[in-house]
Amino acid sequence: MEKQAEQYKKFIDVVSINQSFQDFPHPNKIALVIYVSGCEKECIGCHNPDLQQFGFGNNVLDMESFEKLIEEENLKYKTCNNIVFSGGDPLCGTNIDFIKEFLERNPRYNVCIYTGDRTFQVKDKLKDWKVRPKFIKYGAFDFKTQRSSGKTDEGFVLASTNQGFMRGSDFKILSKDGVLVFRRKKECLLKKILNKITKQKMFMSLLAVEKVA
Ligand code: SF4
Repeated sequence: MEKQAEQYKKFIDVVSINQSFQDFPHPNKIALVIYVSGCEKECIGCHNPDLQQFGFGNNVLDMESFEKLIEEENLKYKTCNNIVFSGGDPLCGTNIDFIKEFLERNPRYNVCIYTGDRTFQVKDKLKDWKVRPKFIKYGAFDFKTQRSSGKTDEGFVLASTNQGFMRGSDFKILSKDGVLVFRRKKECLLKKILNKITKQKMFMSLLAVEKVA
């Protein structure tokens, strides 16, 4: 029995892979979204009820085949190593062991994991991971607080207010009430100084033209 479980850990059922702007928590980056099957949460109003069933996709891959597929799709869609694992729940059942190993073998990928787990469950499950995902979207869908969701240049609104984003490296919560506001990059100091010098130069040359005239 134990041997069977060990073997099963080395496989994942990939239902589909798409290119997406909507799912990666960054204002202008796109990502590969990988839907895996299997989830035990049974949320009312689940967005993908079929995917609660483990093995639903009937596309069970071992690690090498999965890595090859991701590499090809990443190149094809030009998703610059950005990946979202969705489902189903990537942290449910044996999915978690596979994804943990995938990250350790492929640290170059910027991974976001969508899970129905709560924050304390995520921290407990991921605390010993050598390579953690960059972002985790946590919280099971709650139909009582549902609303229109989506991503714009300004931010990311999740489907119910109990959900949120956290940073994988230190589990810092990045969103409030299910809304992640994207921060604009501050203009760097050097750029500010160069702009000021350029403006001053322009002003001086205008004065010089005036004097000649
Ligand atoms: S966690 Fe996601 S996949 Fe699982 S039942 Fe809830 S909505 Fe469905």
